[in-house]
Amino acid sequence: MSSALPVLFLSHGSPMHALQPGAVRAVWQGIARDLPKPKAMLIASAHWETNIPALTGAAKPETIHDFFGFPQPLYEVQYPAPGDPALAARALGLLQSAGFAAAVDPQRGLDHGAWSPLLHMYPDADIPVVQVAVQTELKTRHHVELGRALAPLAAEGVLIIGSGHMTHNLRERRDNGPLPYAAEFQEWVREKIEARDLDALVDYRALNPHGVRAHPTDEHFLPLFVALGAAGANYRAERLHAGIEMGSLAMDAYRFS
Ligand code: ZN
Repeated sequence: MSSALPVLFLSHGSPMHALQPGAVRAVWQGIARDLPKPKAMLIASAHWETNIPALTGAAKPETIHDFFGFPQPLYEVQYPAPGDPALAARALGLLQSAGFAAAVDPQRGLDHGAWSPLLHMYPDADIPVVQVAVQTELKTRHHVELGRALAPLAAEGVLIIGSGHMTHNLRERRDNGPLPYAAEFQEWVREKIEARDLDALVDYRALNPHGVRAHPTDEHFLPLFVALGAAGANYRAERLHAGIEMGSLAMDAYRFS
């Protein structure tokens, strides 16, 4: 594992983080600065939900503005990183070898779950990016297995990233400070991650009293499980950021090596 790239989990924030990233910008920039330059990136985004595992196969993926009601400059942001059809094919093969029915989508572009953090980490957009979708109906354990199947790519110079959120209750957004339950959930997850207690994490909705409140729907938590799976059984976890924005949106970033 020593030559393999680490695996990342990022909380990508609101789409406005592309233009106004705040405190997390330095964290994202630091993560990229501390890594050898990846050959390519494979990023699981909460904003692409499919029935079976899917990968972007476009050579020039478009920048998708998958949100409504934001200021016009956000719709003009472009992240023109190339795709990597060969990597998509390689990842498809790994998924199929692991028994997944999987597919490559030749049309799909990059959504803001991918390009919003990446344009701060790698502003030159010169590293090829392949996105992988989440399957919200298939829950947490499926995503650990998905990550396990893709793990060999980390030893081939591919930076595997899960892009979601540590907590994601949009109805509880507010301006007057973090909600205590969000911080409690954040700490419970940190303990379980550091103890490599994946059994507890996959069952978070039953085992943690705040699990359902932190994730009314769990598509934004599933990229963490892809990252945990890709990190292998003996990872060392480092939490690199733990801010809470708008009361209920924990912005944790993790590196697994
Ligand atoms: Zn999101």
